[in-house]
Amino acid sequence: MDFEEQRKRIVENLKAEGRIATEDVERAMLKVRREYFVWDKYRDDAYSDTPLPIPGGVTISAPHMHAIFLSALKLRPSDKVLEVGFGSGILLAYMREIVGSKGRVVGIEVIPETFKFGKKNLVRAGYKGIKLILGDGSLGAPEEAPFDKIVSGASAPEIPSPWIEQLKPGGVIITPVGSTFSNQELVYLEKTRQGKLIKKNLGGVVFVPLKGRHGFK
Ligand code: SAH
Repeated sequence: MDFEEQRKRIVENLKAEGRIATEDVERAMLKVRREYFVWDKYRDDAYSDTPLPIPGGVTISAPHMHAIFLSALKLRPSDKVLEVGFGSGILLAYMREIVGSKGRVVGIEVIPETFKFGKKNLVRAGYKGIKLILGDGSLGAPEEAPFDKIVSGASAPEIPSPWIEQLKPGGVIITPVGSTFSNQELVYLEKTRQGKLIKKNLGGVVFVPLKGRHGFK
């Protein structure tokens, strides 16, 4: 089966499992080529629904996890989004597809080797105009704030206060919260237009720990 067939099949499966909530998420997942975002040695496994190792001792998340993140974020065209810990860069590509040319996509990654890998992947997949920052994303990205949406692929001890400060009213944060590799929950936090914070748990997950000032020491 070629990659395009595999991509269609996994999107069909994720839809059947109820992981893909909306058409824009489906369209993005049909468009972005995951084979460009995995390590070359794992290319044949690009469409297995599992995380895979990437340079820097971290992982690209499984497709169903990307579907869950994208569905929970409720991205709108022209949203300004930040991904903390972009790793492979694939979630940035999906978000670029959804927010479109009027939106803005910013990614921050702390491991230089992983940063280089993600950047190379976005170039070879043809994504331009995504702002990439090398640094500690537990501090957010103050020079680019405020954001409509903030998403993290690394698990924080608690939601870092700079992320909440850098979120627009009406904005949403999706991040795993909890101790390293156990007892982690995927958390949805919404800042209402009145500035109230609403939190929901979306279920148990396993992610690499967030490093940095507001991460695990
Ligand atoms: N969505 C990405 C997830 C990558 S794993 C993907 O599917 O490819 C999470 C990433 O968070 C790792 O690359 C790790 O290096 C990064 N990370 C951990 N702590 C960070 C921090 N404080 N700032 C920026 N990135 C961080």
